[in-house]
Amino acid sequence: AELWQDVPLAPPDSIFKLTAAYKVDPYPKKVNLGVGAYRDDDSKPWVLPVVKKATAKLLNDDTLDHEYLPILGLPEYTVAAAKLILGPESPALKEERAVSVQTISGTGANHLGALFLARFYKFNGPARIYLSNPTWANHRAIFRNVGIEPAEYPYYDPKTIGLDFDGFIGSLKDAPSRSAFLLHACAHNPTGVDPTPEQWDAIADVMLEKQHYAFFDCAYQGFASGDLDKDAWAVRRFVDRGVALLVCQSFAKNAGLYGERVGALHVVSGDKSTAERVRSQLSVLQRSEISNPPAHGARLVSLILNDPTLFAEWKQDIQTMSGRIIAMRKELYRLLTEEYKTPGNWDHILNQIGMFSFTGLNPEQAKAMVERAHVYMTGNGRISMAGLNSHNVSYFAESLDKVVR
Ligand code: PMP
Repeated sequence: AELWQDVPLAPPDSIFKLTAAYKVDPYPKKVNLGVGAYRDDDSKPWVLPVVKKATAKLLNDDTLDHEYLPILGLPEYTVAAAKLILGPESPALKEERAVSVQTISGTGANHLGALFLARFYKFNGPARIYLSNPTWANHRAIFRNVGIEPAEYPYYDPKTIGLDFDGFIGSLKDAPSRSAFLLHACAHNPTGVDPTPEQWDAIADVMLEKQHYAFFDCAYQGFASGDLDKDAWAVRRFVDRGVALLVCQSFAKNAGLYGERVGALHVVSGDKSTAERVRSQLSVLQRSEISNPPAHGARLVSLILNDPTLFAEWKQDIQTMSGRIIAMRKELYRLLTEEYKTPGNWDHILNQIGMFSFTGLNPEQAKAMVERAHVYMTGNGRISMAGLNSHNVSYFAESLDKVVR
């Protein structure tokens, strides 16, 4: 008998399935709003000009070789990455109580953070992580892989197409003390709905009171508002207020380095000697998982973060991307409210943040968008704003109007 005959066939990843269907569709006006990657105004992937410059510098650098990086990664990269997310004046950096590890992009940071928790976090009861409902689909699988059971906290309220703040706070209060909560640092995926600064402070109040652990996932720094510091506000605030936390960081979106897998995990401890022990264990875990992280992407990001001219250019490139997305939100809102006078309230199109937006379409309407209008979007009503551009936004608004009427 075949050795693997009992291996069940797994369903295809829903996003990749959507992209495959889009690719074979011959309809000329088809639109792909499933993909979670930035596209320029001609629907093309965009290599950031600053990345091109940094790449040219690397090519001309005769001192570089292909030796292994240290286990915890390229030091000039991890140090600069920590400053970028925690802030150059962070007390955690000044007091040397943050440990930074180079990871396989944000996914790898989530995995290593989860593995560290599975090994060392003193769960009050069974190992469990509270995830926002909804969340990035991969979170569930990442935690299950290391034996941490995913649980949910209320986050999105379909009635207001906004944050279910009371539900969120209620579940922070009801969870056993020392529970771990995964928080999207900014530009929540898939809803585009973020807490306000006041709401973040109220969340921190309860987390401190109940001694909860904040597992921050930050995949979109700079992409949300266009401002790197603004998008790191919640993380920095929580560090200042003394909430126990770690942060997963990714340069996939904000530097357009999706395939290079450049990320970092930052674990903030209470003091330097604890941080040293944490570092030693992260090193052991990293060694058994990947031995050493990849060099090329980390070198690129290191150049950009450590050279003031390149850093300034990167900020410009981030503005280009976030600016185009914000412009699309405005144009879509204008089309729906003024041009088509589409029934319903569309304020959330303007208020939501980052690459993704929950339109409020139900699964039937989302299906109709795909089948009737050739607009490819997921069944939960999420669209990638980066898939809209000056050529297709009007067709999209028109299709949306028809489907909701
Ligand atoms: N977390 C969230 C919330 C994300 O949306 C993503 C990207 N889709 C990631 C983490 C990780 O992405 P990557 O591994 O490409 O950095």
